[in-house]
Amino acid sequence: MTPTPAPADLPTPDDVLAAAQVLRGTAHRTPVLTSRLTDAELGATVLVKAENLQRTGSFKFRGAFHTLSRLDDARRRAGVVTFSSGNHAQALALAARLLTIPATIVMPQDAPASKVAATRGYGARIVHYDRYTEDRAAIAADLAARDGLTLVPPYDHPHVIAGQGTAVLELLEDHGPLDALFVCLGGGGLLSGSLLAVQALSPGCAVFGVEPEAGDDGRQSLRAGRIVTIAQPRTLADGAATTHLGELTFPIIAGHAEDVLTVPDDALVGAMALFASRYKVVVEPTGALAFCGMRAAVAADPERFAGRRIGVTVSGGNVDLDRFAALVGPA
Ligand SMILES: *Cc1c(COP(=O)(O)O)cnc(C)c1O
Repeated sequence: MTPTPAPADLPTPDDVLAAAQVLRGTAHRTPVLTSRLTDAELGATVLVKAENLQRTGSFKFRGAFHTLSRLDDARRRAGVVTFSSGNHAQALALAARLLTIPATIVMPQDAPASKVAATRGYGARIVHYDRYTEDRAAIAADLAARDGLTLVPPYDHPHVIAGQGTAVLELLEDHGPLDALFVCLGGGGLLSGSLLAVQALSPGCAVFGVEPEAGDDGRQSLRAGRIVTIAQPRTLADGAATTHLGELTFPIIAGHAEDVLTVPDDALVGAMALFASRYKVVVEPTGALAFCGMRAAVAADPERFAGRRIGVTVSGGNVDLDRFAALVGPA
């Protein structure tokens, strides 16, 4: 079992507030989408934080830019490396370019073409690996050791977590406290950062993580009281196809999340169509997780949520148009 980190190593609500200062003027303050139809259907007020409209198309830009901003000059000169299924890669590549830091990205061979092209377009060097047979973290660690690069992991880093928390911080600043909040869950960077933001601005809010049914390691971990590692899940929600929570994200989630819910892949496709037709936005499969989890939770217990103010993160919009069309199909 991994050792529990000392509380001093864990990011705090103040770290999220500080990250917001760093990101001001560089990250987009993304809009919050509403729909009277959704509110009427669910009997609640639903506020959707649209991080699909963030720079590089996902919230990952927040954690990446915040983390790189805190590197000293020597580390900036040497460069950074990361492993990612795509969105963290694009985010790190753009953040590195904005700060003139060389970036190397370890990416799966089967990553979506648009994500590979976008990452390369930002000037990053790409190293491919096989996601079913090779250990991406080990490959990145080797590169870091060999070339003196700083490893920027996609979720298990205090500055990454604090940066991701700024999305929900903005939601709470702009719309006030919430009764419930639903956040998609992969490795837990967004969820743990969101929990810190909620501690700062909406302490009474019940926060739910939502992960793909095929990759329910977060739910298993919460039940077991320790980090449970699963086999590489196969799910449409590629951005949340992680095998385990982090040593920093797990204690924050275990300590403060209300529960972790799971969503089947076919529900994600239906929500992508709903986002396009009702909210007029393109959402990638992973990006629809929280909305699907929210709808299922409200359907399962309408009284609990009746008349409540519910926040939902839409985490990303990076999906190739032909894949979007093939999934969603003609209306
Ligand atoms: C990375 C990512 C997630 C999962 O975030 P974690 O911080 O790993 O939990 C969810 N949605 C999208 C679009 C992502 O890029």
